[in-house]
Amino acid sequence: DPRLQAIFEAIRVIPNFPKPGIMFQDITTLLLNHKVFKDTVDMFVDRYRDMDISVVAGVEARGFMFGPSIALAIGAKFVPLRKPKKLPGEVISEAYELEYGTDCLEMHVGAVQPGERAVVIDDLVATGGTLSAAIKLLERVGAEVAECACVIGLPQFKVKLDSVYMLVFHLPFNQ
Ligand code: 5GP
Repeated sequence: DPRLQAIFEAIRVIPNFPKPGIMFQDITTLLLNHKVFKDTVDMFVDRYRDMDISVVAGVEARGFMFGPSIALAIGAKFVPLRKPKKLPGEVISEAYELEYGTDCLEMHVGAVQPGERAVVIDDLVATGGTLSAAIKLLERVGAEVAECACVIGLPQFKVKLDSVYMLVFHLPFNQ
């Protein structure tokens, strides 16, 4: 797809952020370019519009930058999956492993009904730990996760993710 090269080039790589040795993939430069931002959203919309998806679940924080536009375009609801203690209502939580320690995602009870079909959106997949926690949250309430989608894939999968759709790949500079 000719749109992919421009998407790849619009992502800025910042060395040693947030700590030494990490090559941070910065998608804020992609958001500055209206055409590239729109092409990115359109590529997901083209893929999901006829897949009977009723839930777009976005992972805090950068999944919030793409998810709502996709949800509006395909006629689905948007459900934020947030870091602990951000959502005001009753939540279910799912902990996941980080390189050092653990983190957690939360979802509002009642946001998703049993039998709904969902896609999970984030900016980047590295180990897949974050997406795995998101899948578990949705499956715990009886939803089916049709696919996970990310703008960037770093080939560092440590957990098995049957189905992740990635637009562009960046080399694993971090290792
Ligand atoms: P994983 O759980 O797959 O190891 O890591 C993915 C999560 O870490 C995503 O939520 C993503 O936003 C964040 N992340 C890790 N490294 C980077 C990076 O270099 N750039 C961006 N934008 N996000 C990152």
